[in-house]
Amino acid sequence: MQMLGQHDAVPANADQLLRLVQKDGMFWVDKAAPNNSSKKLWLVVRDLATCGQRLSEGDIIKLGRFKFRVRQMVATDSPGTQAELKLDETGTQVSADLNKLSEFSSTMCRICLLEGSTEDDLLISPCMCKGSIEYVHLGCLRHWIKGRLNLSESSTSFFYRPLSCELCKAVYPAYLNITNTAGQIERMPIMEVPRTKPPFIALENMVRDAQQHSSRGLHVISLADNKLLKLGRGHESDVRIADVSISRCHATIRFHRGQFVLEDHNSKFGTLIAMKKPRALEPSSAISIQVGRTVLSLSLQPHPDAGSSELAPRLSQMVGGSSQDERALRLSLLTRSSSHGGDANDEVGRRISDGSDWQTAPSIPPHGNPSDANRDATL
Ligand SMILES: [Zn+2]
Ligand SMILES: [Zn+2]
Repeated sequence: MQMLGQHDAVPANADQLLRLVQKDGMFWVDKAAPNNSSKKLWLVVRDLATCGQRLSEGDIIKLGRFKFRVRQMVATDSPGTQAELKLDETGTQVSADLNKLSEFSSTMCRICLLEGSTEDDLLISPCMCKGSIEYVHLGCLRHWIKGRLNLSESSTSFFYRPLSCELCKAVYPAYLNITNTAGQIERMPIMEVPRTKPPFIALENMVRDAQQHSSRGLHVISLADNKLLKLGRGHESDVRIADVSISRCHATIRFHRGQFVLEDHNSKFGTLIAMKKPRALEPSSAISIQVGRTVLSLSLQPHPDAGSSELAPRLSQMVGGSSQDERALRLSLLTRSSSHGGDANDEVGRRISDGSDWQTAPSIPPHGNPSDANRDATL
């Protein structure tokens, strides 16, 4: 691994890992390049000084080789609070019009074989099927979905996954648009969503390839009564993932002082969270960042020759990953060239690029590499 200054040429075949920017007296860790082609930076949760990471909606969590997206977090109870069945919509739009019920007087439901559509039991066309099997009662479809998803009446936590029509294989959409008698469109879930007691969190299983599509879905889990959400391979887990890259009790999410906090439980392959924006290096605490197969631990230290009040940080690094890895891994350092304080920046840049102040700590185990054999295929 090598550190480069802002204007140094990047050697051929080099992988740029991350960028360090000095701004407003702070060091910021950022992606190697602003575009999407550069590698994603992952914060290693267990190495955080706070031991846990506060979650926000849209965060992407990685456990072993599995990724989850935080879709929704509801902290407090308010009337009508319901889990949003938010997944990337693949199904078609389904609608019904309460003003046109009479048109369906002789249309048959393909499940119960009864004719007619009423406000309480609407006939809808939820998939690509046509002809005599085109329509189904919303109530009949809900009953079928409930059975397929194994939803119990008592449980408020549930796993939602989009179901497909068994005949045409079209995925049933999550929501139905109903035109009411006043002509307004109301959106309602096709599935009867259990009322989940806040605080609750919805985690989407992010599935990359089509073979795993059956596991795509949304875990909606209530953390009421100080419940600890467990993610892992063990049977007691609320989000259970049967995979070698997942530890028995891998990570937990708890609700603490109005926040959802993700913690790692000394898992073998680590709990990571995608960095959405540049992160400042705090003088008091080190952070570990995984980029591809490399884990970098970065900490700010006062310069040994300088007074403690002076901001002359020094960087120490720990290099994770295999030492056999012969790819030239590169860390590019960018120091901001500003009109004020330019000398100090140059000083820092020079000191770092000649390597004299670098300390190489013993290797720490890499996170997130389930096995060498399938690493490239799965991560
Ligand atoms: Zn029916
Ligand atoms: Zn169908």
